[in-house]
Amino acid sequence: MNAYLTIDDAPSETLGAKLDALDAHDVPAVLFCEGRRLDDYPALAERAVEAGYHLGNHTYSHPYASDSSVEAFEQELARTERRIDAVYDRTSVTRPARLFRFPYGDDGGDHAELFQQILDDYGFTGPNGAATGERPRFDWSWTLDAEDWETDDVAELRARFETALSEAGDGDEIVLFHDAGNSPELFEAFVGWLDDSDLDLADPLDLIR
Ligand SMILES: [Zn+2]
Repeated sequence: MNAYLTIDDAPSETLGAKLDALDAHDVPAVLFCEGRRLDDYPALAERAVEAGYHLGNHTYSHPYASDSSVEAFEQELARTERRIDAVYDRTSVTRPARLFRFPYGDDGGDHAELFQQILDDYGFTGPNGAATGERPRFDWSWTLDAEDWETDDVAELRARFETALSEAGDGDEIVLFHDAGNSPELFEAFVGWLDDSDLDLADPLDLIR
């Protein structure tokens, strides 16, 4: 089965070493970026784009959407969009799509339907087939979660990854991992396990083509 790697809370100060690991294992990925992190590490975001990785929007300051007013949510989106567009402009790489992921998987509570409408209005695209039989969604969730934010221990992460794999179904998997909060060593180990697994790692943008 295919798997699509998505990396949240990017860019961090150690993204460069992580891009090296992705390159070494030839693993495509979307990096869901916080606008405030793009302010801090613009050059690393540029390097990611130039290396063929895609940038998605993960809000500016990583709030809970269900705590956000409509105005605040739109501002979080727009501030980050401007920064992502600027990265693509500076690298002269054409931005392939507008992708969005909610922090904490919190899609807005009482505002969930309205926030989907806003995402649609902004031109965001969700993965095809992610909501079979339901209304289309314009954000990216995930299906395989090694809960990497819970541990910084390689053996513990390996166990969590094995558990997540064993609980996975037969379909394609959208894999969640994180940049900020993970060391390059932990990140590289994870990418190696993905590469060694039975999963066929494909470009997440294949899900919208
Ligand atoms: Zn996040």
